[in-house]
Amino acid sequence: MVDGKEMFFPFTIHYSPSTFSRMSVDKIETDLVVLGAGPGGYAAAFRAADHGLKVMLVDTEANPGGVCLYKGCIPSKALLHAAKVVNEARHAKEFGIEFSEPKVDAAKLFSWKNEVVKKLTGGLGQLTKQRKIEFIQGQGSFLNSKTLQVAKAHGGIVEVNFKNIIIATGSRPHTLPGWPYESENILNSTGALSLGQIPPTLLVVGGGYIGLELGSVYAALGTKVTVVEALDSILAGADSDLVLPLKRKLDSEMEIILKTKVGFVKESGDGVTVSLDGAEGVKERTFHKVLVSIGRKPNSTGLGLENTQVKVSSKGFIEIKPNRETDEPGVYAIGDVAGDPMLAHKASHEGFAAVESILGEVSVFEPKAIPAVVFTDPEIAWCGLTESDAKAKGIEVEIARFPWAASGRATSLGRSDGVTKLIVDPKTELVLGMGLCGPGAGELIAEGVLAIEMGATVSDLALTIHPHPTLSETVMEASEVFFGHATHLYRPKRK
Ligand code: FAD
Repeated sequence: MVDGKEMFFPFTIHYSPSTFSRMSVDKIETDLVVLGAGPGGYAAAFRAADHGLKVMLVDTEANPGGVCLYKGCIPSKALLHAAKVVNEARHAKEFGIEFSEPKVDAAKLFSWKNEVVKKLTGGLGQLTKQRKIEFIQGQGSFLNSKTLQVAKAHGGIVEVNFKNIIIATGSRPHTLPGWPYESENILNSTGALSLGQIPPTLLVVGGGYIGLELGSVYAALGTKVTVVEALDSILAGADSDLVLPLKRKLDSEMEIILKTKVGFVKESGDGVTVSLDGAEGVKERTFHKVLVSIGRKPNSTGLGLENTQVKVSSKGFIEIKPNRETDEPGVYAIGDVAGDPMLAHKASHEGFAAVESILGEVSVFEPKAIPAVVFTDPEIAWCGLTESDAKAKGIEVEIARFPWAASGRATSLGRSDGVTKLIVDPKTELVLGMGLCGPGAGELIAEGVLAIEMGATVSDLALTIHPHPTLSETVMEASEVFFGHATHLYRPKRK
């Protein structure tokens, strides 16, 4: 990171072929190399070491963690926690407890966030040592299908001969062509996570989960946030009935402009001037900071893959088989670099599948459900089949919806704006999908994932005794809605 700007690598080493020939090169043999130590790579390395393999883990950072721990899931959730505290203090007024407006010490907040990251990545470093995994901080690229060359961060070259390798190099933010990314006012998610100040205004380009999460953080801390999305909805991909309560709440906290394209105009002392091209024509507006969060692209270039049989798709994803092996025997790929969804837990589980295959077991990565969570307030979470997917694919489903206005727990939290829904196969009554909107949705969705993975029917969920009063009861009551006998909602089944 330099001045809050993300570079592909924290350091980049340019060695010419003649420099290489003059350098002493250490040669190492190992069972397994894992290239990239994000949640895919470190989880795979740990699992392989636990099964007795000699493992080497290579990453450009000083400790394992990857994007998730250094500049993704963890720092964003630390800042979102701070935002939640601020918002809850503000809303306490509704039940008679009034606090004065919070004073935000930005330097302290960002340094607390950095401490969280340091603690967790340091912990992973310890776990790596305990497992006797050789960790090399450096940048790796393939010399051929059995040799990885690593330019070490602190000088020197290592050539590693391996029996198997797992590529887990992750992804990086997409950029808008023609924008001056060297400007300190134009940020990607990494820059927004380490800004160290609360800007008076912020434009978020892109209404996906990363933009909304980071926009929510700054809105809570006092920034006037504007989100501009080219499509006609935020969070395209999530069911619209789940997005609705979030959209309503966000509309009271920030400006959201849909069906509008953003263009760069100029930078001045006042910030960044952009053009907003939408239904009302083209307007120019100026913001102190602009966060461009328009998706991520896989890190599949610069790895020397041309020296192997590994194939890369037109979108830059490494092509893999169900066991995560590429077209090159013994070369596996997992995580963001190997395809959507780009999520940490998907990366880790792909890592386990790859290791099983390397250990000689029959292994395929075919989950029935991968949960997706948007950690805004309210949170949105879903897994398995979505209602919109079912519609698009012509799959006949029945939807059982339980509004949180009928939940005692939600009402006692002052949060009756949520919803829990089940997507059910009407013939077999199998639970095919679950969706939630409300505080804690990200925790509650795990029950849906388990139900789908275990092949649970909707009556299994209805008959499972859920603790009272909890938000988890909304899952049970949504199941009861399916049968037309939810205790706290009178909605008889249509005959
Ligand atoms: P990464 O975590 O991207 O790690 C790859 C590592 O490989 C990096 O450390 C990189 O430096 C290293 N590397 C790359 N090339 C080389 C090379 N040639 N040599 C050596 N090392 C190399 N996901 C969730 O599931 N939940 C969330 O809440 C969530 N929030 C997010 C918030 C933000 C702001 C962002 C940006 C992402 C978020 N994600 C979240 C996505 C999540 O971070 C990724 O899906 C996950 O990190 C992917 O893991 P990975 O193992 O594939 O690779």
